[in-house]
Amino acid sequence: MLIEKDKAISSLTSWKIGGPAALLLIPDTKEELAEAVKTGKKAGKFFLLGNGTNILARDEGISCPIIKLGKRFANYNIEGQTLRAGAAASLISLAVKTAGEGLAGFEFASGIPGTLGGAVIMNAGANGSEMKDIIIDVLVYDIEEEEYKTFSNEELNFSYRNSLLKNNNRYIVLEANIKLSQGDKNQLLEKIKKSKEERMSKQPYEYPNGGSVFKNPPGMSAGKLIEDAGLKGFSINDAEVSTKHGNFIINKGNAKAEDVINLIMHIEKVIKEKYNINLEREIIIVG
Ligand SMILES: Cc1cc2nc3c(=O)[nH]c(=O)nc-3n(C[C@H](O)[C@H](O)[C@H](O)COP(=O)(O)OP(=O)(O)OC[C@H]3O[C@@H](n4cnc5c(N)ncnc54)[C@H](O)[C@@H]3O)c2cc1C
Repeated sequence: MLIEKDKAISSLTSWKIGGPAALLLIPDTKEELAEAVKTGKKAGKFFLLGNGTNILARDEGISCPIIKLGKRFANYNIEGQTLRAGAAASLISLAVKTAGEGLAGFEFASGIPGTLGGAVIMNAGANGSEMKDIIIDVLVYDIEEEEYKTFSNEELNFSYRNSLLKNNNRYIVLEANIKLSQGDKNQLLEKIKKSKEERMSKQPYEYPNGGSVFKNPPGMSAGKLIEDAGLKGFSINDAEVSTKHGNFIINKGNAKAEDVINLIMHIEKVIKEKYNINLEREIIIVG
């Protein structure tokens, strides 16, 4: 198993922020994973890292072991209209691959930069679709019982950017079965191209960021609320509310987690004062 000590978490997250990871374990087999979990349990707790695109890691770093599934957990195969993929697989690659095979259903995820595991946990979604719509079932490792379990779509209790598996520190997603349908390869690839162009024009791809910071309040857009409150462009040191999209905070170079957290709290305060709305965070603060 690949083991690294004191690796900068900033190199493992899309925000490029975060202090040292005391111990990073990268298991590549189920046996290595069991070993990594044992180390984590001995330490009292551990953190399961996907592609780091929905987390803000604190400047002090993460003192408990971090487990990141290795490349062998990114394998996938397609049988008929069912995709079976490992949790470390890139959502963008899976979306492009399945569209290229003329299979419809996954193209909504073609711009979401996370792993399949992170997307299951978060019930990631875009363009009116979410993981809930395509998941058949998910294989997990239950760290309490130290055994494998399969959860059906219904059992996963998906809701907006949430699932049974989120924040419970008990299950590691290992694989998922995904139901697709027959589609037209060229149309699907064209859809992906258009959606990419739209994202590039609306989202701040030029700077490291963590995606949408807040969930949309029911029937509203968090980005629009933040924009209407005049907060676009507001910054604390190198952390800035993107001028392109109000729900994105960009790292202009040397932003610290503390700057981002202070900016998040400022936004929450202004939105509460102006609109009496409590914004709920989509990003997860770790460390
Ligand atoms: C530019 C940009 C655009 C984005 N656009 C979207 C979008 O359109 N829609 C959307 O929904 N999200 C979007 N996101 C957010 C993010 O990509 C998704 O939430 C994604 O699903 C997170 O996956 P990850 O692998 O990066 O997870 P991480 O950020 O590494 O982790 C997120 C959570 O999942 C847990 N986790 C990760 N893998 C596993 C596993 N195998 N088993 C158990 N727990 C696990 C972690 O412990 C953590 O709690 C965007 C982010 C960025 C930076």
